[in-house]
Amino acid sequence: NTTCPVIGRFAPSPTGPLHTGSLVAAVGSWLMAKAAGGQWLLRIDDLDGPRCRQEFEDDILRTMERFGLCWDGSITRQSDNGTAYAESFEQLQKLGAVYPCGCSRAEIARSASAPHPGEEIPYPGTCRSGLSAGREPRAWRLRTDGMQIAFDDLRHGRIATELDRTGDFVVKRAEGFFAYQLAVVVDDHLTGVNQVVRGDDLLDSTPRQVLLHQLLGWSLPVYCHLPLVTGPDGAKLSKRDNTVSLADGRVAGKESELLVWGLRFLGLAVPDALRGSDCAELLSWAREACNLPKCIAK
Ligand code: GLU
Repeated sequence: NTTCPVIGRFAPSPTGPLHTGSLVAAVGSWLMAKAAGGQWLLRIDDLDGPRCRQEFEDDILRTMERFGLCWDGSITRQSDNGTAYAESFEQLQKLGAVYPCGCSRAEIARSASAPHPGEEIPYPGTCRSGLSAGREPRAWRLRTDGMQIAFDDLRHGRIATELDRTGDFVVKRAEGFFAYQLAVVVDDHLTGVNQVVRGDDLLDSTPRQVLLHQLLGWSLPVYCHLPLVTGPDGAKLSKRDNTVSLADGRVAGKESELLVWGLRFLGLAVPDALRGSDCAELLSWAREACNLPKCIAK
C-alpha cells in the first residue's frame, strides 16, 4: 500500500501585491505540504492578461523570499499553458460536455437575479439547446444539468452541492482565453498536485473544478479551504487593498511578527520562546509542531 508523496502549491494571480490573506494561504499550503514531507510548487496565475503585471509578479516573488517561503522546482505560469488548456477543452467538446453561448453579461444579468447579494447569477440556460438564429457564439459553457457534486474538505468535512446553483459555467471566455475553472484543473493535474490548500473564497469554485476533474478522468486532489482573513469591516481582502499589502517597504522588518500572526491565525500555538526568531526558524518550528488539519478544524 504505497502512498503518493504530497504535492501542494500556491497559485497567486499577479494582479497586485500579496496581502495578509495571501500570506495565510501561502503559509497554510506550505505547512500542509511540508509537514507531510511533500513538495510545494509555485504557479503564477496570469491568465487574465489585462489585469496581470510583471511588477506585481516580481513583488510577489520578493515577498515570498522575505518570508522564507521557498518553493520547489521551477515556477510555472498559466500564460505558458494555453496548448494544454486547448487540448482539455477539445476533450470536453468530444464528450459533448460544452456548448457555445451567445449571451452577453448584461443579458444574463437581466434574465435572473443573484440568489443572495454578492453571489454569482446562475446562467439561465438560454443557449443550452443551441444558439438561436442570428446569435454569434461568444463563450463556451459546460453543461451542469443539476448535477450533484460531493467532495471532502479537510476543514469543512463532506460537502455536497447541486451545480444548479451556479448553472452552466464558462470554460472558454468570449475574449478567447480559457476560464480560471478549467485552467486551474488542468494545471494542478499536469503538475501532479494532489493537495489544494487555499482560502474559503474559492470554496464556491471547488464543485465546478471537481466536475471538471471527473469529466477529464483525473483523480481529485485533497482539498483544504482555510478561514478567510477579513478587513476591519469584515469584508474579504483583495490584492488592491493597499492597507494590508505586504509590498516591499511597507512591512520591511516586520516579517517575523506578521508570520507569527499568520501561524496563530491558522490555530498554531506559537510559544513565546520563539519571539525574536526569524522567519526560517518559525517555519521550521511550525513544520515540526503542526498538525494543520487539527489546528484549523471547525
Ligand atoms: N489564482 C487564484 C487566486 O489568486 C488562486 C487559485 C487557486 O488556489 O486555485 O485567487
